[in-house]
Amino acid sequence: MKSELNSKIWSNSARRDNGAITIGGCSVIELAEQFGTPAFIIDEADFKARAKQWKSGLDRYFATNAGTAYYAAKAFISRDVARWVAEAGLGLDVCTGGELAVAIAAEFPPQHIEMHGNNKSEREISEAIDYRVGVIVLDSLQEIDRVARIAHAKGVVQRVLIRLTTGVEAHTHESIKTAHEDVKFGFSMASGAAWDAVLSVSKHESLQLIGFHAHIGSQIFATDAFETSAERLISMVVKYKNEFGTEITDLNLGGGYGIAYTESDEPITPEFALERLSTVVNESCKKNGISSPKISFEPGRAIVGPSMTTIYEVGTTKEVRLEDGSTRWYISVDGGMSDNIRPGLYDAEYSITLANRVSSADLRRSRIVGKHCETGDIVIKDVQLPSDIVPGDLLAVPATGAYGRSMASNYNHMVRPPVISVLNKEARIMVRRETYADLLALEIDDD
Ligand SMILES: *Cc1c(COP(=O)(O)O)cnc(C)c1O
Repeated sequence: MKSELNSKIWSNSARRDNGAITIGGCSVIELAEQFGTPAFIIDEADFKARAKQWKSGLDRYFATNAGTAYYAAKAFISRDVARWVAEAGLGLDVCTGGELAVAIAAEFPPQHIEMHGNNKSEREISEAIDYRVGVIVLDSLQEIDRVARIAHAKGVVQRVLIRLTTGVEAHTHESIKTAHEDVKFGFSMASGAAWDAVLSVSKHESLQLIGFHAHIGSQIFATDAFETSAERLISMVVKYKNEFGTEITDLNLGGGYGIAYTESDEPITPEFALERLSTVVNESCKKNGISSPKISFEPGRAIVGPSMTTIYEVGTTKEVRLEDGSTRWYISVDGGMSDNIRPGLYDAEYSITLANRVSSADLRRSRIVGKHCETGDIVIKDVQLPSDIVPGDLLAVPATGAYGRSMASNYNHMVRPPVISVLNKEARIMVRRETYADLLALEIDDD
């Protein structure tokens, strides 16, 4: 098997050392012994480096028009991560009261928080305004009135963006593309709903419209869809100027930048995306005779995705004869769909490697499955792995930082895995493993 770890998939500090993989200088064997499996290992330096790349790329290519790179909390958030994000000079994009609560607990600078969500509750809106978040992204006509009323009652003028559906189709999986027309998010530009939203916002003195937002999907590899979407947002700025005589100051181009999960994925670097987009934005604004607004982004996966790796222990292996006479090895690990729902949710593909040792044994056709009571509980559908893998071996799945722990569930009453932070040969528990007591604590006894 290949002992090299492809740097486009693995976090920066991942190495093979004496056969075992180390991350942040910590051996996966020791990590597994100390913290148990399955476990998410977050490479702290890698996360911070990726966050800084977005910040420096934004400052470099957009210069005076640099807005904020808002880290999308839904990809993965904890108090520590919120602090790292703030230290790197990024903002934070939250879409629920729960995510906001983490930001508040981390004392995240309120003016750098952006609140999203297509169905924010009155309580969530109220909590966001009380914390004085920098901007709320409006997603429906009812919500415009709701935010206006709550802000008014608190004597606050709330800065807002209007989320637009630009009609751009990014070529990605159905459930993660969000800006074509038939979706729950935003106001459609094509149908005129977007302009209705502008008029509605303009009637409220407690709302200050600073600009428009569009997020066109996730795990996107080409920049053309982002460019088209940016141009459509700019057309709204032009229309606004023509109608109101003033210029919109902010555009948020969303997130969705793809990362490499397998050898065949070619991620776009922040530098590449930001350089291209700055050119498109500046040219388009110039052509339309408007000044360039401040441009913000919302990367989630591109920052945290590659910085985490999941470590599993093999429990059982089984040879299954297929209809065509060939065989497949089923290798069961001690987690599965409860710590990584993405393969089940949208056929997401991952890479996997034997992590505690190297093997020169012949490869055999394998399928890595979890321990849940579902046939679809698959981690990796089809992979060639050494034929000498036995119970007790460790397997590592890289690039699980985004939407892994954050989408984890307690299905089958599994306890959710810990997140272990590694840096300079030191490991520490960032989020502990759940316990059976955590599960039982939710039940209220009658007696
Ligand atoms: C999910 C989401 C993001 C982040 O997407 P990534 O693919 O993780 O970069 C950004 N903005 C909005 C509005 C989102 O819903």
